Amino acid sequence: MITNKTPLRPLIPRLEKVLPDTRRDHTRVDEVVFKNQMAYCVCRYPLGMSGGQIQDEDISASSQWSESTAARYGRLNFEEGDGAWCPEITVEPDNLKEFLQIDLRSLHFITLVGTQGRHAGGIGNEFAQMYKIKYSRDGSRWISWRNRQGKQVIEGNRNAYDIVLKDLEPPVVARFVRFMPVTDHSMNVCMRVELYGCEWLDGLVSYNAPAGQQMNIPEHVVYLNDSVYDGAIIYSMTEGLGQLTDGVCGLDDFTESHVYNVWPGYDYVGWSNQSFPGGYVEIMFEFDRIRNFTTMMVHCNNMFTYNVKAFQHVVCYFRSESDWEATPLAFSPSVDDEDPSARFVPVPLANHMASAIKCQFYFADVWLLFSEITFQSDTAMYNTTLTPPKDDPTHKVDDSTTRILIGCLVAIIFILVAIIVIILWRQVWQKMLQKVSGMANEIQMTESILSTQSETFAYSHNQSSGGTSEQESSSTYERIFPLGPDYQEPSRLICKLPEFAQNSEEPGICSGLTVAQDGVPHYAEADIVALQGVTGSNMYAIPALAMDLLSGKDMAVEEFPRKLLTFKEKLGEGQFGEVHLCEAEGIQEFMNKEFLFDVPEEATVLVAVKMLRSDASKNARNDFLKEIKIMSRLKDPNIVRLLAVCIYSDPLCMITEYMENGDLNQFLSRHEPEGQLALLSNAATVSFGNLCYMAAQIASGMKYLSSLNFVHRDLATRNCLVGKNFTIKIADFGMSRNLYSGDYYRIQGRAVLPIRWMSWESILLGKFTTASDMWAFAVTLWEILNFCKEQPYSQLTDEQVIENTGEFFRDQKRQIYLPQPVLCPDSLYKVMLDCWRRNAKERPSFQEIHRVLLQIQP
Ligand code: ADP
Repeated sequence: MITNKTPLRPLIPRLEKVLPDTRRDHTRVDEVVFKNQMAYCVCRYPLGMSGGQIQDEDISASSQWSESTAARYGRLNFEEGDGAWCPEITVEPDNLKEFLQIDLRSLHFITLVGTQGRHAGGIGNEFAQMYKIKYSRDGSRWISWRNRQGKQVIEGNRNAYDIVLKDLEPPVVARFVRFMPVTDHSMNVCMRVELYGCEWLDGLVSYNAPAGQQMNIPEHVVYLNDSVYDGAIIYSMTEGLGQLTDGVCGLDDFTESHVYNVWPGYDYVGWSNQSFPGGYVEIMFEFDRIRNFTTMMVHCNNMFTYNVKAFQHVVCYFRSESDWEATPLAFSPSVDDEDPSARFVPVPLANHMASAIKCQFYFADVWLLFSEITFQSDTAMYNTTLTPPKDDPTHKVDDSTTRILIGCLVAIIFILVAIIVIILWRQVWQKMLQKVSGMANEIQMTESILSTQSETFAYSHNQSSGGTSEQESSSTYERIFPLGPDYQEPSRLICKLPEFAQNSEEPGICSGLTVAQDGVPHYAEADIVALQGVTGSNMYAIPALAMDLLSGKDMAVEEFPRKLLTFKEKLGEGQFGEVHLCEAEGIQEFMNKEFLFDVPEEATVLVAVKMLRSDASKNARNDFLKEIKIMSRLKDPNIVRLLAVCIYSDPLCMITEYMENGDLNQFLSRHEPEGQLALLSNAATVSFGNLCYMAAQIASGMKYLSSLNFVHRDLATRNCLVGKNFTIKIADFGMSRNLYSGDYYRIQGRAVLPIRWMSWESILLGKFTTASDMWAFAVTLWEILNFCKEQPYSQLTDEQVIENTGEFFRDQKRQIYLPQPVLCPDSLYKVMLDCWRRNAKERPSFQEIHRVLLQIQP
C-alpha cells in the first residue's frame, strides 16, 4: 500500500503546504486515489545534478565562458571547475538566449527546482537574481513555464552561496529542462541547479480535449478552463498536459480552490452538455509507448445542486499501432444523487494494450467537471514500484524512516561543520585586519572589508613559489612589464609598512590578504584554463582557440590572411612585442559588419598590427590571446577596436585601428599649453578645452567599460591612443578583468603593478573595482593637465608611494595628494580629490565625471 510501503522518501522538506487535504473526500476510494497527490507531495527527490546521477553529457548550455565554467559545472552544491556554469556572454535584459539544459533521459514529474550562484570558495560572486524555465517532453517543442498566475520569471538567488528552492506550481512533466537566467541590467551570471521530482510513471505525454468552459451561477462566474495547459488551445486543447495531470484534486465545492489567489473553478476543467450535441465529451490521451492498462481514475465533481455530476457512461477506444481498435470498451459507473463529494471514479481498462486512448465521457447532468485523470498501466504504479526510477538510487524500496534519520543527521553535521568553518574564517580575517589597522577606529572599516570580501582577490605572493628567483618567476606582470618606472612590485614594498612589517613572518600578511586556493583554476583565469583544457598541455595548438575566438556571435573576430598585410613602419614596442603600421588589403571583408561605419572604403586601410614576439612564453601567449578575447567584445567609440586577428599561425597578431598620433603620454609630452611660452618656443600646443575634450572621451570609454562591469586596472595616459582631431581611444586590456568574474587574480610570483595610479585598496587589499579605475582616472586626468611632463608623485620613491598608500588607509590626514596642476581650475581639482576619497563608495561614477568634463569651462 502506498501509505506504508512507499518507495519515495521526501528528502527535501516542503517549503509550503501544497498537498490539498482531500483525503476526507476520498476515503471510499482505493489507494490509487492518492497517487497523484502522493506524486505531488513526495515527488521531491533530487534528480541527480548534485548527486551525480545525471551524466555530464546530459548537461549542456547555450554557451560557456570557458572550459572550467562549462555546463557540467552547473551542479548544485558542487565546487568543481570554476564553481558553476557561466555563459560566455553577459546576460542582457532584452537578450534571453543563454540557458543551462538538463536531459533527464525520460519523462519526469518535476515539482521543485533549486538554484545557487558561483561562490568558488569566496572568489566567485555571480548568481542569477531571476530566471525562467523552459521544458520539453520530446526535445523539439519547448514550453515556457508559467506559474498559476501566468508569471514566467522566478525569483532566483541573492548571493553566490545560498541554495534557493522554488516550488514549481504547477509542476511540469518533462524530459528536458532549461534554466534561463534573467536580469534587469547587463551582468554576468553563473548558475548551479538541481531538479526535484520523480519519474513520470503514467507515461502520459499529452491529452487533447475540448476547451473548458465558463459557468454562470448566481454568486460567481466559474472559469472551468484548463489554465495551466501547456499545449495549444484554440477551440480545443492539443498536445499538452495541464490541470488534469497537475496533481491537484478539486474540492467538493468547485467554486473554491486549494490554490491561493485564484478564481472560482480553478481546479476543474468543465463542459456543459449544451455544447455537445452527441451527449459526451471526448478526450484523447497519448502515451510514451504501448502500455498494458488496468485502470483509469477520473476525479469528478458531483455537486448535483449545481447540475454537476460525474459521468454516467464512458466509452474508450484503444490504439496500439496506427489504427484504433474496432471494439471499444464501455463502462457505466453508478450515478450518485446523494453524496455531493468530489470523487475518483475508477474505470477498469481490462488490460488493453495501447499507446493512445480516446474516451467519450457521457453527461449525467448539465455539467461534467474533471480535475484529475490518471492511468494505471504496467509500470505506472508508484506504490508497488514495478520500475524504480532510473538514475536515482533514492527511489529504491527501503525502510525509509532509518534513511531519513541518517539523512537528517548528515545534514546537521554538514551544517555544523559549515558554521564552524565560517566562524574560524571570520576570526582569521578579523585578526589579520586588526593587525593591519592596529587601531580601534579601524574596526568599523574592517567589517566593511569583510562585507565585500567576495570582491577581494589576492595579488600576493604564492607562498609555494615564494622562493622563486626574479629570473625564474612566471609572474604575469614581471613578464608583461619589464619593471619600467610606472610599474612596481607592491608586495615587496608593502612589507615596509609598519603594520605589515611586524607580521611579515606570517605567511600572506606581508603581501596583502590572501584568499587564493592553490591548484584550483579560477574564473578570472578562465581563458587560460580554457586554452589548457582545449589543447591539453600544448598551449600552441591554435585552431582550438581560434574556434573559440572566431565562433562567438557578438564578439566574432575574423582571421585575416597575413599575406595581405604590408609593413610600413614600426610604431612602438609594448609588453608583447613590436607594434607595426601596416597596410591591410581588403580588411573590410574580414571585419564584423557593425564596425565598418568609419573604416575608409579604400581597398587598402592603414592598421596597427601588434605582434607577439617569437620568444614569448606560454603565459605571454595566453595573455595575448586573452587580450584579444576581451577586446573582441568591446564596441565603443572611445575604445580601440580590434579589426581582425592572425592567430592560425605564428607570430600571433592583433590588428587594431591605427591611431595617427600614438599614445597620449607621448603625444602630450610633445605639446605645450597654449600661452606665451609656447609662442616663444614655437612648440605645438593643445588648448585647455581640447585637454578636457580628451579627458571626457576617456571618461566616456570608461563609462562604457563600467557599464559592462569591466575593470581596466591600468588606466593611464600611456594606455590611451590619440587619433585625428584629438580623438582618444582607450587601449591595453592586458590587465583588465570582468568585475563579476570574481575579480580574483592569482600571480604566482611577483606582482608588478602601476602603483602610482592605483587606489589604496588595490595596493593593500588587492581590490580592483570601477571605483579603483576612477582613482586611476583622476591620476590620468592629472597627467593630462600636466601635459605628461611629470610622473605622478615624482618626488616620492616607490617605497614612499607605498607608505603614502598606508596613510590613505590610516586616514589621519597625513596622506599626500597629487598637487593641483597649474592649468586645473579649483572645481576640477575638487572633483579629482573626490576620486581619491578613501571610501570607494564616495567616489564619483564615470557618468558623473563625464558630465562634469563636458561642462567644464576654462
Ligand atoms: P603596451 O602593451 O606596452 O601598453 P602597446 O603594445 O599597446 O603597448 O603599444 C606600444 C606602442 O605602440 C604604444 O605606446 C603606441 O605608441 C604604439 N601603438 C600601439 N597601438 C597603436 C595604434 N593602434 N595606433 C598607433 N600606435 C599604436
